Amino acid sequence: MERDIVTQEIRLTEKDIEKGLLKKEFELHFQPRIQVSTGKMTGAEALLRWEHPIYGKIPPNQCIPLAEANGLIIPIGIWTLETAFWQVRYWTDQGHSSFVISLNLSIKSIEDPVIYDVIEKLIRFYKVEPSRIEIEITETSYIENTRVYGVVEKLRLLGIRVAIDDFGVGYSSLHRLKSLHADTIKIDRSFIQNIYHSREDQVIVSSIMHIANHLGKRVVAEGIEKYEQVQVLKSFGCHEMQGFLFSKAVSPDDFELLLEEDRRYYH
Ligand code: C2E
Ligand code: MG
Ligand code: MG
Repeated sequence: MERDIVTQEIRLTEKDIEKGLLKKEFELHFQPRIQVSTGKMTGAEALLRWEHPIYGKIPPNQCIPLAEANGLIIPIGIWTLETAFWQVRYWTDQGHSSFVISLNLSIKSIEDPVIYDVIEKLIRFYKVEPSRIEIEITETSYIENTRVYGVVEKLRLLGIRVAIDDFGVGYSSLHRLKSLHADTIKIDRSFIQNIYHSREDQVIVSSIMHIANHLGKRVVAEGIEKYEQVQVLKSFGCHEMQGFLFSKAVSPDDFELLLEEDRRYYH
């Protein structure tokens, strides 16, 4: 990897990602998802973290696009799935048996038939209840790739949950929700940021909630940073939320502490 002297930009190469995977420089961190009505943790979103020995933390937004361009997104997706299944098995054995872990998969991964086979094998190998795993697909990529609808439906038949991520930033219209196979809708942070004083955002979010409720889908609000946002979401009957107000994404060890704290409080 080189650093561009003029822009100070890090230039990642295919080799860096390959080495990173081999040398176990990647980790999944977990950001809690919270039930709006009770404050109880329902699970977490697994987010990719890369600690490079020289350049330090490399955010997913920097390495995912490169991995998508050079095909390494497939081994990254497989690694993410395997790690998430392993963690769910491990935490279940520790007595935490009801939370759901969601993970992000690039549309390129979903399109690759290898990924379906991997998921099927992981369910059998780790004996994880499939509904404990939710796969997040960004709205824009999902809408643009109608050919993945069949794969997504097959995954749901296995019992895997599917979420539409960053909902609202794409160009889809609300009636499209009907044809998108999904269990959960994650409303993008941009609609939540100013929801406590923006009438427009309130109208948009409550409309999404209304339609999602009628279609039997769960709604998660992303990027909660202020208590005022929680109050509005509560009044709309939003199901779940996540954001820095509760916790940023934390290491597996720290997430286990959160699981234990949650269990002590709610049992
Ligand atoms: P995303 O899936 O929408 O994930 C949410 C992002 O918002 C995360 O950034 C999270 O740290 C951040 N976030 C959460 N709460 C707050 C908040 O209250 N305020 C603000 N300002 N930000 C908040 P992160 O981890 O940098 O991930 C960025 C994107 O990279 C993700 O967006 C997802 O699209 C992608 N990504 C992350 N992990 C993976 C992965 O394992 N595979 C793939 N294909 N993509 C991934
Ligand atoms: Mg996500
Ligand atoms: Mg998102």
